[in-house]
Amino acid sequence: MGTIAGPQRQGPRSVAQTPHLLDIQGVHKHFGTFEVLKGVDLAVAECELVFIIGPSGSGKSTLLRCCNRLEEPSDGRIFVNGDEITARGADLNALRRRIGMVFQAFNLYPHLTALGNVTLALRKVVGKSRAEADEIALQALDRVGLKDKAENYPSQLSGGQQQRVAIARALALEPRIMLFDEPTSALDPELVGDVLAVMKDMKDAGMTMLVVSHEMRFARQAADRVVFMDEGRIVEQGNPEEVFANPKSERARAFMSQVH
Ligand code: ADP
Ligand code: MG
Repeated sequence: MGTIAGPQRQGPRSVAQTPHLLDIQGVHKHFGTFEVLKGVDLAVAECELVFIIGPSGSGKSTLLRCCNRLEEPSDGRIFVNGDEITARGADLNALRRRIGMVFQAFNLYPHLTALGNVTLALRKVVGKSRAEADEIALQALDRVGLKDKAENYPSQLSGGQQQRVAIARALALEPRIMLFDEPTSALDPELVGDVLAVMKDMKDAGMTMLVVSHEMRFARQAADRVVFMDEGRIVEQGNPEEVFANPKSERARAFMSQVH
């Protein structure tokens, strides 16, 4: 506790009255006059996997990006493990270590090997020695089934393998929560399964996860809760069967009929 709020900001606002690992409270986001998030409340418990669906443009990516301050919310507060990450003076490096993020585009450095990609932040941000960083990175690559590819460059890896390296890179920093933004959308269909299997392993190992994806089958297998977003709001939520089989709102019903 207390490692995210910087020295300038230690007032009572940085202490959350919440047992949730991630607590998004009343988050709004404007881009100019356009309101992308119109007051989102979402609390994620430890070890919970919350799966977010919704039409393109409904604000899913913006919401995830607010959770590690790639976007600044216009209003509202977000807590991770009781620390307010939206507090002024929050230590962005510290909070990004605790909130791992995996994107649709893998964003690996092409001139670094898999190992080099995973060790980079460990060495430059965390300050680990090369030997320590290598050891941690090899364990992380092992977790995603790619220890034997440590010396491969991204161009020598399939898309699915590259995405698993990106997951290992996040895992190596020992995050408290992992955010996934359409992690399999850029992959050829036959490569999707390996990435989802790694995500399922993480869930089974107790990782707290917030996942934006269209992989409804994965949601049925792994999600504790499905949240449907539309036009910057959470419209409905529930367990996967409930939301997929019996969407309550007209908008969710229309969305499900398109994706199924
Ligand atoms: P989703 O991930 O659900 O498809 P996004 O969060 O990416 O939705 O985007 C929601 C809306 O916000 C879209 O209309 C998008 O064009 C707009 N938007 C996203 N990022 C920006 C930005 N940096 N500047 C202006 N508009 C943006
Ligand atoms: Mg998106």
